[in-house]
Amino acid sequence: MPEKTFKGIPASDGIAIGPTFCYIPAEMTIPVCAAGTVDEEMARFDTARKRARIELRGLCEAIEKRAGKEEASIFEAHQEMLSDPALEGKVRAEVEVGQTVEEALVKATEELASLLAGMNDELFAARALDVKDVGRRILRILLGLPDTALSAVTEPSIIVAEDLTPSDTASLDPKLTLGFITAQGGLTSHSAILARTLGLPAIVGMGNGLLEKVFSGLPIVMDGRTGEMIVMPDDETITRYKQIQIQRESHLQNLKAAADKNAHTANGRRVEVAANIGEVLSARDAMEHGAEGIGLLRTEFLYLEDSQPPSEEKQYRIYREIFEVMSGRPVIVRTLDIGGDKPPSYLPFPNEMNPFLGWRAIRISLDEPELFKTQLRAILRAAVGHRARIMFPMVSDLDELRRAREIVETVKRDLTLASVEFAADVPVGIMVETPAAAVLVDVLAEASDFFSLGTNDLTQYTMAVDRGNAKVSGLFQPLHPAVLRLIRQTIDAGHAKGKWVGMCGELAGMTKAIPILLGFGLDEFSMNPRAIPEAKNLIGKLTDERAREIASQAMSFGTAAEIENYMKGILASL
Ligand code: PEP
Ligand code: MG
Repeated sequence: MPEKTFKGIPASDGIAIGPTFCYIPAEMTIPVCAAGTVDEEMARFDTARKRARIELRGLCEAIEKRAGKEEASIFEAHQEMLSDPALEGKVRAEVEVGQTVEEALVKATEELASLLAGMNDELFAARALDVKDVGRRILRILLGLPDTALSAVTEPSIIVAEDLTPSDTASLDPKLTLGFITAQGGLTSHSAILARTLGLPAIVGMGNGLLEKVFSGLPIVMDGRTGEMIVMPDDETITRYKQIQIQRESHLQNLKAAADKNAHTANGRRVEVAANIGEVLSARDAMEHGAEGIGLLRTEFLYLEDSQPPSEEKQYRIYREIFEVMSGRPVIVRTLDIGGDKPPSYLPFPNEMNPFLGWRAIRISLDEPELFKTQLRAILRAAVGHRARIMFPMVSDLDELRRAREIVETVKRDLTLASVEFAADVPVGIMVETPAAAVLVDVLAEASDFFSLGTNDLTQYTMAVDRGNAKVSGLFQPLHPAVLRLIRQTIDAGHAKGKWVGMCGELAGMTKAIPILLGFGLDEFSMNPRAIPEAKNLIGKLTDERAREIASQAMSFGTAAEIENYMKGILASL
């Protein structure tokens, strides 16, 4: 097979060389065939359960090593479910009336799961999902299908998939993931963001048919800077890419060494450069890369990694640990931003035509006050002695913001009544990521202590372009004049009300945007930790006056392409 190159959207910088791991969630069709005797069918059930037990034991050990005992406990529970007499009894009853064990298993797990789900109890509902999960595992084994789940990756590999959901990405082991390539997805789909946070090279939007071009074990080179995937690279290509890898590493090390100083423009104005993170590990990474704070702590991953919401204690522990890692630097904790492309399994999600326009973020928090209050309690308690701030996602009007703030006040009252220690003075702000919020900043300022621009969603909603849809990804243009006008308007209106305005959308970490944003007077740039050294370096080269000139020139263009082109020239001249 000769070397062949394919191109997608470069989503996260870096180069990876290694074997492919094709992630294909198993499609399970039950063949129509006559059942064996009861003993034969039940013997097949037993064999499949034994195999499932071995898989689960392996999974449990791997996850315990990587993430701790608590994370692994779910797979211990799954092992116990394998020998649940209720499951076995139901399977046997179906087999005894002439069903194959596969048919019996599907029916038994469905019955058991709906029984649990119908109990109207959160814990039982979560168990219903576990039962389904265990049932799928046994069925997959019965059908002779391989375990292609991401947890089955055993050697460092480049993951190739049709798409990766945020929960798929959350279950990736960074030590075994060299990078990933997906057929779907756009620059700001959450898997791409996570890749940048973890410093993993990523290519998205390769288009349909990606999985026909590769198979597990096939050697490939991927270049996250250009979006190129080279299948069956020859020796010369491998040597060339290894050299680029080494040069890139040394360039990054040099920038990193200089990044521990606070950022200033060339004329000495202090500008904050912070990090976007999702968990403790990336907080450490943020510190190593010179983060002056956390501009966005995405807490939703905590809500996606399990079949039940995280407890107050678990959240308290994690937030506290992150605050401690950041030792005195400000940390903006965003309340749960689930829904959209991040639906957790334990909430009753309607089948939405447009999930990004649907039940998402603050809308869920206001509809599920207990879920919201648990998180607020955890944040307020963990914030004692630290510089934490609370931020609500996807606010689109003042009424929503007032209601959310009212819940914060209720939580504070409850904590006071219960004599629980908490931080009473935590500032509360919002993300500006809907066009509605952007044009209403002066009004929202009444109830918002600060603002942070979420340009991923702001671009999506302004341009009416699904941020994860590869087909329209060419129209996803955060440097579009319409988006830039909303950004400038937000900063101006926020400043006019004396409010701090930061940005935690991906645009804040893009070198082609930083000079313009600096010229607009943005107070804080929050980005994936790996982008910080380069951003600080660039900010240090620009005076405010020069940045204002660049911004004003950029705003004189009518299209994103013209702005991009102009910025290319500016960056080359610096
Ligand atoms: C944004 O929308 O810009 C943002 C930072 O939030 P998220 O990407 O998590 O939706
Ligand atoms: Mg957003």
